[in-house]
Amino acid sequence: MSVALISHSDCGRHDTGWGHPEHVGRIRAITKALREHPEVLTTLEHVEARHATEDEIALMHARPYIEHVRTLSRAGGGHLDADTVVSEGSWDAARAGAGALLDGVDFALSGVGMRAFCAVRPPGHHALADRAMGFCLFGNVAIAARYAQQRHELGRVLIVDWDVHHGNGTQALVEHDASIHFVSMHQWPWYPGTGPADDRGPHQNVWNVPMAHGLPAERYVEALTRAIDEATRGFTPELVLVSAGFDSMRGDPLGGFTLEIEHVEALTRLLVDRATAWCSGRIVSALEGGYAPERVGEACVAHMRAML
Ligand SMILES: [Zn+2]
Repeated sequence: MSVALISHSDCGRHDTGWGHPEHVGRIRAITKALREHPEVLTTLEHVEARHATEDEIALMHARPYIEHVRTLSRAGGGHLDADTVVSEGSWDAARAGAGALLDGVDFALSGVGMRAFCAVRPPGHHALADRAMGFCLFGNVAIAARYAQQRHELGRVLIVDWDVHHGNGTQALVEHDASIHFVSMHQWPWYPGTGPADDRGPHQNVWNVPMAHGLPAERYVEALTRAIDEATRGFTPELVLVSAGFDSMRGDPLGGFTLEIEHVEALTRLLVDRATAWCSGRIVSALEGGYAPERVGEACVAHMRAML
């Protein structure tokens, strides 16, 4: 199956300021790593993302909040919370980020039958319906899930989040919709402090997998595999969305998990195998965190190679 790498230069225009861990070098590192792996680089379909419309962002976010982000960005920027910044380019970056996932959904479901990895920033999985949080402006993956259901009349969607932080925003945006199953593995206790195992959401459609830092990497792979299998017992997804946060790699400055490239490959292959059995292999994956740029680049290449 062919794999699209979807991105947009606007994702580089989200300027978080000097010294902020979520910077454009994270995306550039992916391009750099790809150049060292021409066999992957030349096999991917390179796609420039479209920009999500305000109506599409409003599938999951409150209109006044969307308006606030646009106005603040157009006015030159400012802080939305202690560590979430908006710059003049952020509105276009955030719309391109969400738009990349919507393109990915269209490719997966349009008969093109292409999987996709979206190299985007700002990330999305902490964003709430009416509030930015944790470097995130809009919930890209949650928007994509709802878009797939509305635009392509899809029923069941599975979201898997292996970022080292709990996908609290994604959970908040999807936990009232039992047709979306959400699995998040994250370091515990750790930012943002949510996501205990017994928080299953009001419809029991959330599987939180809190894990200690510094464990042997196989333990994380096993725990996430088990949770994915539990989340799909009697629930056959028609689309798999991945919040691919690579701050779960060993050595990340914002996390204490211990994944190596081989574990990224193993998790990706596992999802590819399952998605092949469930839904013709439809997977749309998006970059979330990951703050050691070189590691992010290597991990993204391994992730895409395993998707090919
Ligand atoms: Zn993270």
